[in-house]
Amino acid sequence: MPSSPSSPALSQILRETFGYTEFRGHQQAIVEHVTAGGDALVLMPTGGGKSLCYQIPAIARQRAGRGVTVVVSPLIALMHDQVGALHEAGVDAAYLNSTLDWAETQDVERRMLRGEITLLYAAPERVTTPRFLSQLDELHQRGKLSMFAIDEAHCVSQWGHDFRPEYRALTVLHERFASVPRIALTATADALTRADIVERLQLESAQQFVSSFDRPNIRYTIVEKKDPTTQLLRFIEREHEGDAGVVYCQSRKRVEETAQTLRDAGIEALPYHAGLDAAVRQKHQDRFLRDESVVVVATIAFGMGIDKPDVRFVAHLDMPKNIEGYYQETGRAGRDGEAADAWMAYGLQDVVNQRRMIDESPAGEDFKQVMRGKLDALLSLAEASDCRRVRLLRYFGEHSTPCGNCDNCLNPPQVWDGTDAARKLLSTIYRVQQHSGISFGAGHVMDILRGKTTEKITQFGHARLSTFGIGSEFSEAQLRGVMRQLIAIGALSVDAQAFNTLQLTEGSRAVLKGEVQVLLRESVSSPAERKKSRRE
Ligand code: ADP
Ligand code: ZN
Repeated sequence: MPSSPSSPALSQILRETFGYTEFRGHQQAIVEHVTAGGDALVLMPTGGGKSLCYQIPAIARQRAGRGVTVVVSPLIALMHDQVGALHEAGVDAAYLNSTLDWAETQDVERRMLRGEITLLYAAPERVTTPRFLSQLDELHQRGKLSMFAIDEAHCVSQWGHDFRPEYRALTVLHERFASVPRIALTATADALTRADIVERLQLESAQQFVSSFDRPNIRYTIVEKKDPTTQLLRFIEREHEGDAGVVYCQSRKRVEETAQTLRDAGIEALPYHAGLDAAVRQKHQDRFLRDESVVVVATIAFGMGIDKPDVRFVAHLDMPKNIEGYYQETGRAGRDGEAADAWMAYGLQDVVNQRRMIDESPAGEDFKQVMRGKLDALLSLAEASDCRRVRLLRYFGEHSTPCGNCDNCLNPPQVWDGTDAARKLLSTIYRVQQHSGISFGAGHVMDILRGKTTEKITQFGHARLSTFGIGSEFSEAQLRGVMRQLIAIGALSVDAQAFNTLQLTEGSRAVLKGEVQVLLRESVSSPAERKKSRRE
């Protein structure tokens, strides 16, 4: 693209208003394109500098007499931060949201209608009210509606990890103000979500600016879940004593328990979840932002829009529901570019829980199918014995080479051939089903394979099965690994609606026939644990 005549002016804004000497990555191309009135879809990782991509064009266009840029943003906290920072930089910015009283709202609206405000932030539900839309009409007629910036654009997609129905109504912007340029921005979107954003926000003719999603300073580690709280404690004590971090858990109860355990161990841990008083949540958030060494233990409700550059680690005690969620949450670590850790403990129970949430959701079958596919992609990332980053980036459509900064690159795991174990496991599930007419859960199936005599085995006569004891050479940990791997490749499923029983799938056949090799990471258990499980 030829550099537009306004490019020195844009660099000047970068320098004089924001105090930066150079544009980063695609920023310059984006800023030039958008200032000239082009539509854009911007994909840039967290910390990449998305805000300037619309703030600089907004300022340049306001100076050219084009009036107000409306920024759609989903979070009040984020709006406040951004507007505060813009004020400090001497930019006329304002927000419209529920924290303003009537008089303040009217004041902002009046100034907007006069075209004085450069950047007006508003939540999507506000932007699409009849009242606000008719004000935009008025502004547009006066030629003072400069452009729209839609932040966190993945919220428009039900395939994304943070669907917000109110984003759907934003189609009205294009329908009513077709000539007003639009820039949509997001930090996470896989191919499906991306296509959905384009369709929903009618950005078919927008130029797409896709930055690399790589966050080289983040070291990815995924460990097998044994005693997760203790594992977490060890990780923090060993690698992050006195550091700020975020620990994500699935439930409020687990948040509370984990925070308590960390506190008992002398770590400044604070809980954060929707069940806490707003005032308490605010207090904990403020402490986290202000202090250097607070660990927040939270449900996923925490983090979006919280801009703390020196978060040294993000830990997951429970698995998120897909790679986009995992990437977004781990992306909150190391925004300052310094070394940071993304650490996750993951186990069979996570798979079962996530499946159940999908199965039990009121969504349609097609939707559930997509969600299962996304979950499977995350499972195979967790099960991988090769470079995590290569897999993560590949999921977002990027090709890369082994990174040297993930657990698998730093400590290549021992891999063992689990094909034989997988076949024995699947044929046991098949035999049991044939024999008893019902399916059983993981524990029982493993007992049969390993030839244990339990009450349940006696009760069902399962010691008579031809597969009884055929897997006695495998430890329970190994068999659990095999099951997780089989689930990850779709050769086994867990029926959450029937007591988490194991079910064969279409994909089981190829494994049974020996057409698929099942490679597993050797469980990195301690020698004592290995001895113990051999004795069992
Ligand atoms: P994002 O919204 O993509 O997560 P931000 O817009 O918040 O990222 O920017 C991340 C940080 O990088 C901010 O502190 C911002 O001021 C800084 N930044 C953005 N662009 C530049 C630049 N060109 N030079 C230096 N710092 C920049
Ligand atoms: Zn790697």
